[in-house]
Parts: sequence; structure tokens; C-alpha cells
Amino acid sequence: MKFNTKTIHGGQTHDPAYGAVMPPIYQTSTYAQSTPGGHKGYEYSRTHNPTRSALENAFASIENGTYGLAFASGLAAMDAVMKLLKPGDEVISTNDLYGGSYRLFTKIFQDFGIKFHFVGMEKASAIEDYVTSNTKLIWVETPTNPMMNIIDIKAVSEIARNHHILLAVDNTFATPYLQQPLDLGADIVMHSATKYLGGHSDVVMGALIVKDKALADKLYFIQNASGAVCGPQDSFLVLRGIKTLHVRMQRHCENGKAIAEFLASHPKVEKVYWPGFENHPNHEVAKAQMKDFGGMVSFTTKNNNFSEAIKTVEKLKVFTLAESLGGVESLAGHPASMTHASIPKEEREKTGVVDSLIRLSVGIEDIDDLIADLKQALE
Ligand SMILES: *Cc1c(COP(=O)(O)O)cnc(C)c1O
Repeated sequence: MKFNTKTIHGGQTHDPAYGAVMPPIYQTSTYAQSTPGGHKGYEYSRTHNPTRSALENAFASIENGTYGLAFASGLAAMDAVMKLLKPGDEVISTNDLYGGSYRLFTKIFQDFGIKFHFVGMEKASAIEDYVTSNTKLIWVETPTNPMMNIIDIKAVSEIARNHHILLAVDNTFATPYLQQPLDLGADIVMHSATKYLGGHSDVVMGALIVKDKALADKLYFIQNASGAVCGPQDSFLVLRGIKTLHVRMQRHCENGKAIAEFLASHPKVEKVYWPGFENHPNHEVAKAQMKDFGGMVSFTTKNNNFSEAIKTVEKLKVFTLAESLGGVESLAGHPASMTHASIPKEEREKTGVVDSLIRLSVGIEDIDDLIADLKQALE
């Protein structure tokens, strides 16, 4: 089955009771048993729920995996991965990381005796310097947020395999429409399904997808034992979102390209961060591992002025000033005062998060309206 068919049919069967084309929202915590243990595959909804199962099968299908797991949020999914580890274990992670992921690692799991190394992975070989006999996990995010760095998943997976280290890839920004990390050698794919998979800014959810049965069994155990599961209504919403992922992504990519090019030619704009440009440092890797370049674009203005950047985002009318990304509507954010405000100025500027940096999640509206909106806001 091709990807554009998998988004709609992958892992799905029609409801056995009435042939409902969409799985019913099984809003139930428990299931009647005819005799103790005599049930139809479902006992208690923390463990299993038919609507969630339909979604988990869809997750597995679109990422070319075998097993999918749905969680209450992207961070809950990451939390489950971290629970594969023990005190003394070490993790090598991308340095330009989603802020909440960095917080989970450094404020929760570091206190449980897990050691983290944050490494610039634009050259995969940089990882080798941090590998020890205790390294159990490599955590990769690509493209990164908000600087749009690209990491070569295949090159990292070879290093991981040579040292028998698990490789997990946060595929939230790219989505399986653009890149499929399991096919490139990753062991675990993680998603904030809150973003492009859900796609309508109406639900918070996380996902894990794996191929290996033993690894899946450990993660299912953690999912049930720790209990950060999502409800059936949210499962239904994300399943519905996935059905249009391929058409939404196609438009996100088209609009993202048009906006990156518009910004690059604007006299007030200093630099545009978008992996589709030939002068992007890892453009060749992006071209090889991604089908297209996505709908996320960051840029800076020439005067690099904090208050002017704030004025610009406030003036936007079609773009909404908000956290998050990946919905049908265009969003704009100012990392220095929003997502990265808690990081000291010198620290954030080292990774490129300067005062004038604006991050756009380009939606699927008419491109003329989006460009006109940016034009008036930059004036
Ligand atoms: C939003 C996000 C997360 C966290 O997901 P939640 O659903 O908000 O818990 C993790 N990684 C990336 C790249 C994200 O954008």
C-alpha cells in the first residue's frame, strides 16, 4: 500500500457490529466478561481501548512500523521511552531540542541518575566522542526547532547499530509524509501527534512506533503500568486527522516554500532558515532523507531588534500568534520571548535564537493572503 492510501486505510477494518466506516468512539472504561477472563480482547481501557487500537494501528502503518502506541501527549510518549533506562545509563541527545524534551531530560530523568550529553549532530560523527559502555539511547530531532538544522538519520543509525545503542527519532516536524525514520535505521519513532498528525489544533497526544516485538512489549508494559494513555475521543480526532495528512502536508510544503522564498527576497529580512535552500548547511541530507521540506520556516530581520520583532508578530492578522505548530491554520511565534524565554540571552544566541528570530508554522490557507499578511506586518 502506498503512503497516500495508508493514511486513510492503513491498519483499519470496518466496525464488526454495524460496518461503521469510522471506528466508533468506545467511551468506556471497562468491558463485560462472561466468566472471569472471558472477554473479547478488551478488559480495561488503560490497557486497551478499541478506538485507541484503531489509531495505534494507523500510527504503525504510516511510519512503516509494526507496533504503534498512543499516549496522552508527546511528552508522555517520551517519558515512556526514558523508562526503558536505568540509573547510570547515558543518553546522547540533539542539542537544539524541543524545550519540553530538554526539560523532561534535565529536570526529571537527570535526577533519576540518567546522564545526558547534548551534542550538535549536524555532523553525525560528533556522536562518537560521547559514546561510552553506558550509552543506551541516542535521541534525535530533525528538523530541529526553531533553527531547522538537519541531522542525517541513516548516518546516526549506523553509529547506533555499531555500538548496540537504541536510536529514537522525534519525527514531529517532518511527519512520515516527509521522512520515515524506521526505514532509515531508527528503532523508535516518536511524535507529538498534537501537531501535524492531528493537524487541527484540537487535541494533545503522543505516539511511539517500533518494529521490534521485544521492544514493543517493553513499551506496551510501560504504557499500561505507568498509564499515560489518551482517551477514545482524542484517539478518534487524531485518526480523522491522519486521513488528510498527505494532502495537508503537500499544501504545507508548497506554502512553506513560497513563504521562505518571499522572505529571502524581502529587504528587511536578514536570514531565512528553511532546509529547502541550497545554501542550507545540510540541504543535501534533507534532499536525500525527506520527500519535501515541510511547512516550518524561521527568519531574522536585519536590525535584530527585540521590540520590533514583537511588533511584527502582533501586527499579523492571518497568522495567529501562538505556541504549537502543524495545524491547518498558520501560526507565528517569537522564540526569544515565548518558547525560549527561560534560556539566558547568551545561551540562546549561541544556537541562533536571537532577538529578531520569528518562527512560522505555515498553514494551508491561500498563499496570497499569507504573503500579504507578512508583507504588511514587516512594513
Ligand atoms: C510539541 C512537541 C513535543 C511535545 O509534545 P506535546 O504533545 O506537547 O507533549 C515534542 N517534540 C516536538 C518536536 C514538539 O514540537
